[in-house]
Amino acid sequence: MSTAVQSYLKDLDYSVVQQCMHCGMCLPTCPTYDATKIERNSPRGRIALMRAIADDRLEPTREFGEEMYFCLGCLACMTACPAGVNYAELFEHARAEVERVGVLNNPKRSLIRWFTVKWLFMDLRRLLLLGQVMRLYQQLGFQTLLRRSGVLKLLPRRLQELEAMTPQVQPKFSAELIAPVTPARGDTKYRVAMLVGCAQDLIFSDVNLDTVEVLARNGCEVITPPEQHCCGSLQAHNGELELARELARRNIDQFPPDQFDAIITNAGGCGSHLKHYSHLLAEDSRYAARAGLWDKKVKDIHEWLAQIGIQTPRVNGAAPLRVTYHESCHLTHGQKVTAQPRELLKSIPNVQLTELPESSWCCGSAGIYNIIQPEMANDLLDRKVKHIKSTGAQVVATGNPGCLLQVINGCKREGVDVRVVHPVTLLAEAYRKS
Ligand code: SF4
Ligand code: SF4
Repeated sequence: MSTAVQSYLKDLDYSVVQQCMHCGMCLPTCPTYDATKIERNSPRGRIALMRAIADDRLEPTREFGEEMYFCLGCLACMTACPAGVNYAELFEHARAEVERVGVLNNPKRSLIRWFTVKWLFMDLRRLLLLGQVMRLYQQLGFQTLLRRSGVLKLLPRRLQELEAMTPQVQPKFSAELIAPVTPARGDTKYRVAMLVGCAQDLIFSDVNLDTVEVLARNGCEVITPPEQHCCGSLQAHNGELELARELARRNIDQFPPDQFDAIITNAGGCGSHLKHYSHLLAEDSRYAARAGLWDKKVKDIHEWLAQIGIQTPRVNGAAPLRVTYHESCHLTHGQKVTAQPRELLKSIPNVQLTELPESSWCCGSAGIYNIIQPEMANDLLDRKVKHIKSTGAQVVATGNPGCLLQVINGCKREGVDVRVVHPVTLLAEAYRKS
């Protein structure tokens, strides 16, 4: 398809392009419009630009490219839209068009994109190798030494900020923690596949282990192959639809959907993308039917547990735990999984759930948005941390690795003493105490 593409927006189904009726209901829910009050920075404004390109009234310019990358891709506008505009599809095609015409290209950007989007995340063995190098660097104390030495102060401010955001790499990755087959505890009721993710595996492999344990406790035999592929959301959200298709095919080949009751993900961002392989592969006669079944089988962990019924842990005598819940954009707006994480948290007897004000407002993580748009991302993070503080919670639970990292960094920066965890970790800990 790559050579046949004339324009990603002109080739897009016109019923998607012309869906917006300009009502403006999405405007108050859009974080970028909220920050600037400029129409161009709103969903309605962006859709008008996309349509103008599809209609041949506008060329994709550098300004258009910058606008598409100023959008968080948080999909809050989709939840608000009464007309059912498929902003996710418009957004992916608009970014693909920006990359096709190359209006944002420069040597530094091209090098970074080639290294990350096109090379590192296309083969997770490369990412894990990099993870092992980082792990050694951190475990042998080089990171601490460098930070204490003051050398980092010589770096430009932006690089210093990026260095401070470097996550702690886990002592063991999923393949070292999780057996390829984990039997159900008690009767086997379901056979499920577990997707370990990419960044998730490096930084939160403990959450993957917790997820597998929770699944086993709830009657699932869990299949977790040691070598897996990225879901492709990084590629799809950064204008590389052909690479995203390639990864979708690899995943469907590795996890034939007819062989599992469910294909489980615990990362909100990945799940939102994984559930749309049928859109991505609609034109691929070899994969389209399997992609349709795949979409139905992919389940976010909260969604799956709510569907099969959560075994209530018994934690008699445990001290009450004040927990608040931050909603990952792609879990909430992309997958509409909102009640199930709360249900999971409420199933833990000593958890006292306090609602977080603006719980579904983006925290600024948004994939790599906090790296490419630091100012806007920081403003959103400050707003989130302020709300977290107001709840007085001891624990913030959230179901996406990007949000976990962002909120951990924000709370650390503001000196807010809370533990930030995936909801499934709290459930796994409660089972262990049972
Ligand atoms: S995806 Fe988020 S930032 Fe982008 S237009 Fe929609 S609400 Fe605004
Ligand atoms: S709410 Fe939907 S139809 Fe209304 S302006 Fe926004 S995108 Fe268009």
